[in-house]
Amino acid sequence: MDALTTFGSHRLVHIDLKGAPPRVSYFEKLFPLLRSWGATGLLLEWEDTFPYNRELTQIGSNALRNLSNGYSVQEARQILQIAGDSGLTVMPLVQTFGHMEFVLKHDEWKNLREVPSFPSSMCPSNPRSQPLVKALIRQIVTFHPDIQYLHIGADEVWHLGLCPVCIKRASASKHGKASLFLEYVLSIAQFIKETYPFLKIVMWDDMLRPMSIQVLNEHYIGKYVEPMIWHYNPRENFSLPPDIWDKYGSIFPHIWGATAYKGATGSCQHIPTIRHHISNHERWLEELSVNVGKINEFRGIAFTGWSRYDHYATMCELLPTGIPSLALCMKVWLYGYTEQTHNQVAKSLGYIEHPLYVTPQPRPIPIPNNLLFPGWQIAVGIEWFLNYKTKFHGLVYSEQILTWMNKWQVSNNYTNPMQLESLIPAFTDMLMELSALENYMRVQMEMVFYTSMLDEWMGSNVQPMEQELTRLKQTAENQIKINSSI
Ligand SMILES: [Zn+2]
Repeated sequence: MDALTTFGSHRLVHIDLKGAPPRVSYFEKLFPLLRSWGATGLLLEWEDTFPYNRELTQIGSNALRNLSNGYSVQEARQILQIAGDSGLTVMPLVQTFGHMEFVLKHDEWKNLREVPSFPSSMCPSNPRSQPLVKALIRQIVTFHPDIQYLHIGADEVWHLGLCPVCIKRASASKHGKASLFLEYVLSIAQFIKETYPFLKIVMWDDMLRPMSIQVLNEHYIGKYVEPMIWHYNPRENFSLPPDIWDKYGSIFPHIWGATAYKGATGSCQHIPTIRHHISNHERWLEELSVNVGKINEFRGIAFTGWSRYDHYATMCELLPTGIPSLALCMKVWLYGYTEQTHNQVAKSLGYIEHPLYVTPQPRPIPIPNNLLFPGWQIAVGIEWFLNYKTKFHGLVYSEQILTWMNKWQVSNNYTNPMQLESLIPAFTDMLMELSALENYMRVQMEMVFYTSMLDEWMGSNVQPMEQELTRLKQTAENQIKINSSI
């Protein structure tokens, strides 16, 4: 069996726009590079950055324009144009069941929640759910010319069969909650097939994973969708169910896989743990080599790069920070991992004087000034930020503060000015470095991201440290004033 048959012909790069969506100019530089590394297309997850209109206006970028975090119609068109010009196909991804926070958080759609207090999952029994999802799909499909595939998400439907109507329906169905899930997905899929007969439908597989062949067969799901099996763990805890290939092979004529190059090792991670992602890709290659004979056709892979764990989560690794990991993972997918391939990729990205680490290394500035991928200035800025954060924790939890300036001591004015005087220069130096870091990041991020992203990143990462240092410095100064008087 040749490599194309074993590992599929598609290599899609997942662009998760729900966190830190880059400006269009960034894609102009990135997409041709992706193509040159061997990507064949994009799995484009717009979420709330898509310019939905009419009855859906408020869930997309048209409502967010005042926040400028999302794309105008012209910008979204440009992104598709750049992808096409770069030789990349596009598979849009629109969530239709779980991870619907971007819709269900709005007052107008709140009553579609399965659990009234949680915005994650939609109720499949509510008569307004399907019209909403069909409207989402219509707008997405109409906007993307020449697509062959549509990804309908449908992963991690945390809340299923919990509202009174769904409880009743589940207890009346032969297969309970599984039937609720499959019947809903099926009706969406049937709508897509009828309206857009040229489209093939892809969905995440995790909700199907625990279902038996009998359940899947009885709902004819194999006739309608192509599952995308996602698994992001490295070799040591890679754990797809052993029967998954036989099971899916007997149900689905076409199957996809999904690995991860970022956004899968920690929900507030700043730099990818490349070692983890390389191992994930190596293990996937082995998995396919052993099992691909059990299925009819493996379509290909999506290299996922998550920007947030969900709509409300803080941002994890930024796209520019994930580029070295993506370049390496794609190389691994095509040629396997060796020291030589690592060095080739490192060199092509400009890591000549400084190594490209496979575990995150906080590095202080000065930093290499000759890197060769778009947004590298942000990637090295993040290394500086991590280095700074380590120093910050070292100071705030230092023995000196715990011994001579702890909360009890301050609230009782029981402090020794001699000790506090020696702390003040440390606070001042740290505040100065933080201000330099902030200025650097603002300039670099402004070129790649929108202002609202900068506000969020600074507010989540820089300002809390700034406030804490300022507070400590003022406290030390006050204590000296109080306790120095003779
Ligand atoms: Zn329900």
